[in-house]
Amino acid sequence: MRIIVMETSGNLFVVAAPSGAGKSSLVRALLAQDSRVHLSISHTTRPPRGQEVHGREYFFVSDDEFDVMVRDDAFLEWAHVHRYRYGTSKPAIADRIEQGEDVLLEIDYQGALQIRNLFAQAVLIFILPPSWEELRRRLENRGEDPPQRIQERLRNAMHEVGHARHFDFVIINGSFDQALSELGMVVQTQRLRYFSQRRSKPEVFQALALE
Ligand code: 5GP
Repeated sequence: MRIIVMETSGNLFVVAAPSGAGKSSLVRALLAQDSRVHLSISHTTRPPRGQEVHGREYFFVSDDEFDVMVRDDAFLEWAHVHRYRYGTSKPAIADRIEQGEDVLLEIDYQGALQIRNLFAQAVLIFILPPSWEELRRRLENRGEDPPQRIQERLRNAMHEVGHARHFDFVIINGSFDQALSELGMVVQTQRLRYFSQRRSKPEVFQALALE
C-alpha cells in the first residue's frame, strides 16, 4: 500500500529516538510553541502510567482490541516496542494531511520506516543523545527503572540509533534549548517548500500568476 497525498497537502513529521533521549519533552515544547503542529494520538496495549489519560497520551486498548484493529487494517503502521504494541490509526492521519494540517507522529524507528514507505514526503527526524554516558545518566535520573531495566534500555538504544542513518534529519539533544530550536527549524524549513508556500499563501501565487 502506498498512500498518495497531493502536493498541496500538509506536512507529516515523524520523530523517533531511543528512550531517555528527550523526545517527548522536545515534542511537548514544540507543540506549545507552534499551534500549527498537531500530534497524532497512538493506540497501545501498554497500561496507563501515572497521570496518563485515555485519549490524551494514548488510546489504551486491550490485546484483543488491538488484534481486531490489526485484522481490520485500521493501522497505518504498528510495531512491538518494549514488550507492548503501539500503532498509528489510519483515519486520523491521511485526512488531516490532505486538509493541509501539519501532523507529527512521535513513534519508534520501526514505525517511522513504515511511514516512509507510505508517505514519500514524510519528514523523518531522529533525536540522538549526546553520548552513552549522558543517556545512562538521564535514564538513572528518571528514577523509573531498576538497574537491570536501564541496562536493557541502553542495549535497545544501541540497536535503535543504528537506524538513524535512514532518517532525513538528526538532532543531538545535548542542550535542550538548542535541540528545540533545531526541531523548530526543520518544521519551518518544510513550510518554505514550494507547495507548502502555495498552499499557505494562495493570494501571492495568484497575483504572481504562478501555478
Ligand atoms: P512509551 O510506552 O514510553 O510511551 O513509548 C514507548 C515507545 O513507543 C516510544 O519510542 C514511542 O515513541 C513509541 N510509540 C508510541 N506510539 C507509537 C506508535 O503509534 N507506533 C510506533 N511504532 N511506536 C510508537
